[in-house]
Amino acid sequence: MAEKKPENPINNGKNGKPSGGFSLTWFYIAIATALIFTIFYDDSAPMKEVQYSDLQEYIKDGYIDKIVVVTNTNHAEVSLVDDSTVIYNVLGAADVKKYSKKPQIQSQIPSPEKLDDFVASVTEKSGRKIDIKYEERKDYASTFLWTFGPILVFIAIWIIMSRRMTGGGGIFSVGRSKAQIIEKGNKMNVTFKDVAGLSEAKQEVQEIVEFLKNPKKYTDLGGKIPKGALLVGPPGTGKTLLAKAVAGEANVPFFSLSGSDFVEMFVGVGASRVRDLFRQAKDKSPCIIFIDEIDAVGRARGKNPAFNANDERENTLNQLLTEMDGFGTNSGIIVLAATNRADILDKALLRAGRFDRQISVDLPDVHERKEIFEVHLRPIKYAEDLDIDLLAKQTPGFSGADIANVCNEAALIAARRDKKVVDRQDFTDAVDRIIGGLEKKNKITTAEEKRAIAVHEAGHASVSWLLEYANPLVKVTIVPRGKALGAAWYLPEERQLTTTEQMLDEMCALLGGRAAEQVVLGRISTGALNDLERATKMAYSMVVYYGMSEKLKNISYFDSTQQDYSFTKPYSDKTSEIIDNEIKSIVQTQFDRAVKIITDNKERHGELASILVEKEVIYADDVERIFGARPWKTRMDEITAKQ
Ligand code: ADP
Repeated sequence: MAEKKPENPINNGKNGKPSGGFSLTWFYIAIATALIFTIFYDDSAPMKEVQYSDLQEYIKDGYIDKIVVVTNTNHAEVSLVDDSTVIYNVLGAADVKKYSKKPQIQSQIPSPEKLDDFVASVTEKSGRKIDIKYEERKDYASTFLWTFGPILVFIAIWIIMSRRMTGGGGIFSVGRSKAQIIEKGNKMNVTFKDVAGLSEAKQEVQEIVEFLKNPKKYTDLGGKIPKGALLVGPPGTGKTLLAKAVAGEANVPFFSLSGSDFVEMFVGVGASRVRDLFRQAKDKSPCIIFIDEIDAVGRARGKNPAFNANDERENTLNQLLTEMDGFGTNSGIIVLAATNRADILDKALLRAGRFDRQISVDLPDVHERKEIFEVHLRPIKYAEDLDIDLLAKQTPGFSGADIANVCNEAALIAARRDKKVVDRQDFTDAVDRIIGGLEKKNKITTAEEKRAIAVHEAGHASVSWLLEYANPLVKVTIVPRGKALGAAWYLPEERQLTTTEQMLDEMCALLGGRAAEQVVLGRISTGALNDLERATKMAYSMVVYYGMSEKLKNISYFDSTQQDYSFTKPYSDKTSEIIDNEIKSIVQTQFDRAVKIITDNKERHGELASILVEKEVIYADDVERIFGARPWKTRMDEITAKQ
């Protein structure tokens, strides 16, 4: 997809200056060259350096004609008398040519006074006069360098640092918006056809598309269109996709950026970026601004000024609010924002006239998953007998992004197996891989460990098979995957409400693994950590949130606002004790129940465990063969019938 960066007025030639003309860089280079030239260029003739004692000798011997003393550097430049023997003596035969110009030699002197005294004494003794002159020479280049050098170095460092921090734009562009703009002409190719499911959300945004296409229809009637809509939902459910589809359908420019793009280490930058973004958007209106992860800037502003650590974020948010109020309803800018945490957003953002529409983009249900599969199967060559319904059923809780990932992964797996088309097995493996991580077939497990894992997993399978409300089993494996050593895979019912019985049965099935270890092996292991954690959390939520326990019936300590970050609990110590006891008693009861189920079905469980050790993976059919069909009608029956 062709995406265009926002234009930079410094470089884009729009400011009337042809590129390649006067530029600051050339100016800097010229100054630097001039400086270097003045420092190193020396037009004086070369002179031979001699010791002061030698110079004294030469003066005594009458070799010297003239001395120029540079007083500020204690330096003497000395011309020899025009006598070839003297010149040969002093300079040496080889260097006569080299030092042919006057003055021929130079020397560092202790001080002008000392030299003067010495010359005077020689003159007195010999009567020979020597011409001495005194000069003060200023070294402008080095003076300049010493004065301004450090400043220049600092400026250079500052420029380099600011360029680094602002990604090459220089310090002056730090306040510019970082939005990516997808222009109208650029075929974005995303339309509502590419967004599967999400029918309600699509319906909601349809109105926005209509407005962008034909604003007059609404404004003529005096209607106002919402300025913004907030897409709320878990990651990967297609929020960005939906926003792109809106822009694609309406055929308007689309500014896309993330909430964190406003954040920079300089104070005031966020606000200035917001201003810049809206300025650019106004130029291109009608258009859509899409801010992903708006919670990065839109989090509720602190109430307690003492804890206001992030003033900068608040300034950015304030600017955003102002801009959203500022542009007239008819200016045709629509702000779409996405977040998966609408609850922590500032109330001011959500009030009417700003993001007054909240569109919830939820995880897809089984029908929607089928549609999403169909969208992502379009480019894939798959086997004709691929059952898309079954795929949709096997992927509960998957988001659109997960499904896209499954399709891609399946294609890769099939390619690895040198297949011509992607078939059911590839898709099943891809799903397994995405849920459980990579298979680690060569993870070292001893025969004893393998048996313990098989007993544990068979425990889950047996208990869940024999409980009415436990989730239907899909398969049990003892092939290590990711961090897990083995796993029982279920097909969770997609239900909106969960009853006490369902929770208890699920908990019992979770504890079935450890119960089997205890009953069959007579010792327990650390393998049940994850099960225990989940079972305990479930028991906790039953007691504390859902009011499902005997002693704390119909009481919930759940705080949906989650704004109270206090460290105190909303109940007394006595109640904490009751909560603890209730949790313990629930978990214990379910564990005892699991132990009883395993004890009563010890043989059948043993058979299952043995098959598992042998085959490593068993499916619901194998379990059914041993335990008989479940008397309860579940969706699983439908699925096994299809398999
Ligand atoms: P979000 O912004 O909600 O985190 P994205 O919109 O970026 O998620 O979705 C990521 C990818 O998942 C999309 O590029 C698309 O391939 C796929 N996807 C998600 N939801 C859907 C959907 N409803 N229909 C088709 N593809 C989807």
